[in-house]
Amino acid sequence: MQRLQDRVAVITGAGSGIGLATARRFAQEGAKIVAVDLDEVAGAKAAGELGGLFVKADVANEDDVVRMYQTAFDTFGSIDIAFNNAGISPPDDDSILDTGIDAWRRVQEVNLTSVYLCCKHVLPYMRRQGKGSIINTASFVAVMGSATSQISYTASKGGVLAMSRELGVQFAREGIRVNALCPGPVDTPLLQELFAKDPERAQRRLVHVPIGRFARAEEIAAAVAFLASDDASFITASEFLVDGGISGA
Ligand code: NAD
Repeated sequence: MQRLQDRVAVITGAGSGIGLATARRFAQEGAKIVAVDLDEVAGAKAAGELGGLFVKADVANEDDVVRMYQTAFDTFGSIDIAFNNAGISPPDDDSILDTGIDAWRRVQEVNLTSVYLCCKHVLPYMRRQGKGSIINTASFVAVMGSATSQISYTASKGGVLAMSRELGVQFAREGIRVNALCPGPVDTPLLQELFAKDPERAQRRLVHVPIGRFARAEEIAAAVAFLASDDASFITASEFLVDGGISGA
């Protein structure tokens, strides 16, 4: 018997980076995969590779979020794991002095409102089952801020962390665990795109990582699989740092 045998896992942002690596890891551990992404090509490819179901959805849109969980439940009959992971990085320099209100709002919508919507609409399924594991992707910047000027991103991830803590506490007695995953810098398209525009930013960030390199997405996926599994049965409302030592330095 594998650790996630026959658990139904809904993973947002499953077409790329951390979401894709986690979908692969969950599938290896026996889970049934519902891959959610706005990018139809990447999401369908991930689901196809893993024998899972693809649902195209914008996680910032409430109707889409309701539909994605309904589709998952109608297909597989339960929802055991929700990995609320889709997110974006601000397009340009994101100093508070330069960030416009529209850019700010978009980052909050995709990174924070999406997690509110995903938790709100998956919790009723998990309450009926009397169990479930929710993992929300925050970031190390939620606990320590960022040296590289990311105000809208940092604020959105701080919100994800605070919301996860509160929900973890509120639903603990109902058998539902809610944790915030806080990765350090991970070598994914999101980070590569950012650093392609500003290579010095990569160097500035790297000097803060005690381990001396960025994470591989698979290293983050291993932590998510642990949090999703019964091995983490006493872990809830936590900020789960997988950051190469950044927050300890
Ligand atoms: P990525 O860009 O490789 O993947 C993100 C995926 O989310 C993409 O497939 C994209 O199409 C999808 N997506 C974006 N907006 C969406 C929306 N509105 N609806 C549905 N899907 C959408 O990024 P990643 O590095 O794997 O990041 C995943 C998560 O991890 C994000 O929340 C990010 O903020 C967080 N994170 C990343 C790092 C890092 O260094 N890469 C560090 C800490 C936290």
